[in-house]
Amino acid sequence: MDPQRLAPHLRTALAAEELIHWWPSTSVEQVCPNGDGSWTLKGISGELIAAGTYDLVINAAWSDLVRLDEQIGLESLTEWSYRYKLANRVHRSVSTTDLLSVTIVLGAFGDLVNFGDQGGIFVSWYPHGRLIFTESVDLPDWNVAEHEHARESAYEKSRIAWEEMSPQFRALNVVNDPVDVRGGIILASGRLDVDDPNSALHSRVRVGIKRSGTYFSVNTGKYTLAPLMAQNVISQVKSMLV
Ligand SMILES: Cc1cc2nc3c(=O)[nH]c(=O)nc-3n(C[C@H](O)[C@H](O)[C@H](O)COP(=O)(O)OP(=O)(O)OC[C@H]3O[C@@H](n4cnc5c(N)ncnc54)[C@H](O)[C@@H]3O)c2cc1C
Repeated sequence: MDPQRLAPHLRTALAAEELIHWWPSTSVEQVCPNGDGSWTLKGISGELIAAGTYDLVINAAWSDLVRLDEQIGLESLTEWSYRYKLANRVHRSVSTTDLLSVTIVLGAFGDLVNFGDQGGIFVSWYPHGRLIFTESVDLPDWNVAEHEHARESAYEKSRIAWEEMSPQFRALNVVNDPVDVRGGIILASGRLDVDDPNSALHSRVRVGIKRSGTYFSVNTGKYTLAPLMAQNVISQVKSMLV
């Protein structure tokens, strides 16, 4: 399933919903309890965000989930960590027979995903593509130009590792193809890395919804769990309103 192909459909569905008001490029920096059960949301310069005061807040910020939760004293996961992982996407249309998707899961792991005609090839090799592993809640944006060189170099290492392992990928010779070398943040419990069998990163089950009054915090855990989490948080909100 290609998240880049699903995303425009999700955006269209959100835009078509009249009851959802959308404030793009707006970062919530502070969540402040007002003492009467409502909340005030503030932006980078302390300005009020949109209506300013809200009866209910659902924090689904993931890469900023822990920082915002800590502001209101909501208990963090035990031993959580943030990782930044590259989601390299080579822009090349390849038939499904010329490149079979493959995932390697022993120790150092990674995937080659052939997203077909429109999607290109996802090339991930964790030992090179995991660029940050931190317990800090204030994360730098690694997709900015300043880190482009580091990202490109990590992609090159990942490409070479895959060319050594996959004859099909090697035969495609993607070295001169354009590639998107951006990535994303992953929140998980566990501070030992994946090559340690004892790492909690291998059992990503401590996820879900936490609540403090009318503030909900949603840790989706995985992309594939996000729809379930959305349904669960909505049922909790509905049961609170009846
Ligand atoms: C390289 C890579 C590969 C992955 N592969 C898989 C996989 O194979 N399978 C799988 O299930 N999962 C995978 N994941 C994990 C998956 O991408 C995440 O679990 C999923 O995107 C989390 O969804 P979410 O809605 O909770 O958070 P996000 O998709 O991160 O959405 C959170 C939104 O909140 C916004 N936001 C953040 N902070 C603020 C703020 N302060 N104010 C306002 N807005 C804010 C962000 O801009 C973003 O739009 C992968 C992740 C990466 C990086």
